[in-house]
Amino acid sequence: MRIVIAGAGIGGLTAALSLHAAGFTDVTVLEAARKIQQLGVGINLPPHAVRELDELGLGEGVASFGIPTAELAYIDSAGQLINAEARGLDAGYRWPQYSVHRGKLQELLLNAVIDRLGAGAVHTGRRVQHVIQENGTVRIAAVDPEGVPSAYEADVLVGADGIRSAVRTALYQGGQPLATNGWTMFRGAGPGPAFRGGRSMVIVGDEHLRCVVYPIGPGILNWLIVRPTEGATGELGNWNRPISPEVVAKYVEHWDFEWLDIPALVRRTEAAYEYPMADIDPLPRWTFGAATLLGDAAHAMYPFGSNGASQAIIDARVLAYHLATQPSAEAALAAYERDRREAVAAVQQANRTMAGDVMKRVSDLARARDHASAAAELARVEQRYRQLAGFDVKTLNERPSWSVTRA
Ligand SMILES: Cc1cc2nc3c(=O)[nH]c(=O)nc-3n(C[C@H](O)[C@H](O)[C@H](O)COP(=O)(O)OP(=O)(O)OC[C@H]3O[C@@H](n4cnc5c(N)ncnc54)[C@H](O)[C@@H]3O)c2cc1C
Repeated sequence: MRIVIAGAGIGGLTAALSLHAAGFTDVTVLEAARKIQQLGVGINLPPHAVRELDELGLGEGVASFGIPTAELAYIDSAGQLINAEARGLDAGYRWPQYSVHRGKLQELLLNAVIDRLGAGAVHTGRRVQHVIQENGTVRIAAVDPEGVPSAYEADVLVGADGIRSAVRTALYQGGQPLATNGWTMFRGAGPGPAFRGGRSMVIVGDEHLRCVVYPIGPGILNWLIVRPTEGATGELGNWNRPISPEVVAKYVEHWDFEWLDIPALVRRTEAAYEYPMADIDPLPRWTFGAATLLGDAAHAMYPFGSNGASQAIIDARVLAYHLATQPSAEAALAAYERDRREAVAAVQQANRTMAGDVMKRVSDLARARDHASAAAELARVEQRYRQLAGFDVKTLNERPSWSVTRA
């Protein structure tokens, strides 16, 4: 079976590795960028994503650069602790949670694809533009950065080309509009001291302004600051819009705590980025004939709850499982969509309410000095979210593996 994957992001590369592990050898990844660089900043890999990477033989690789997150602490805008709960192994999971640099994870996946499938499996400088299906064959037209065209044929096409997916546009015969919730996320990573034991992720603030900080390497702190968008949003879905750290530091000038001086951390950061939050409405279908969608292309979500990369990784594993075990590609794509589409739509929907509704309820309680009720509300929301996203401790620890060998 000839399988083409559009996009060498975390989803596309994990799909290539999962398909290879399941016994598929004719897998080609098309990536728009000429060179795959270490772009992005920190991302979090909760235990449900780490389990899949571990089962792909990448556990040690991720452990070599990831920081095993031990705690998630919520702190109100006056600097008072609301709640701290254990994460990863400390929370009873069989797999750790890691905080990593997105680029390092992408590089690990890319190197594994090259080792296992060969250097010829990844074609860079190939931006997919058009998709046509004829008699069960998918014809894919791509173009390089100079505009030189190339053509590919596949029995299955996987669109893993991110939030502004060209495959999704082709399958739907038009763009699915990106939505914004009116918030902008600013992010970067800079040198900073260890705090709260050195393996903590903290969320500081309220429904008006929030900052998330966690280490992604020795002495390197990843930070995100979220506040309402000022003025026009501009282009949505672009992860690489630079902004001056000095401009961002001013938003959090008052958050100079004993354990961490957040404005100083932001000022020490070399490169900061702004990202007006964007998602898409849950799609009514992912599969059209022999082409399907995966990761952000299928379900771009607001970046709350550490689930953008995780859900892409799980998509990849479930897709490979069904392609290896179902009697036909058609049956496999139907089973993949049945297992994943509605489940991930619930996570997309939950992420839409997390910024405003949940933070307002919790912050109202914290402002009224009722930290016990605020902590209980956070614990309730977290538990519900873990169930929705497939990583409550019992379910994850006990469910069977998606690892499979093709019959
Ligand atoms: C440059 C970049 C920086 C990011 N930074 C962060 C971050 O700091 N924090 C965070 O939480 N999330 C970040 N993300 C998003 C995060 O990686 C995804 O939400 C998540 O990992 C799901 O991954 P994905 O593989 O579905 O999509 P993505 O990670 O977006 O990967 C999609 C890939 O497809 C390629 N592509 C796009 N269009 C085409 C096309 N037409 N043909 C072929 N290839 C194409 C892209 O170059 C990219 O490599 C970033 C994404 C990108 C692309």
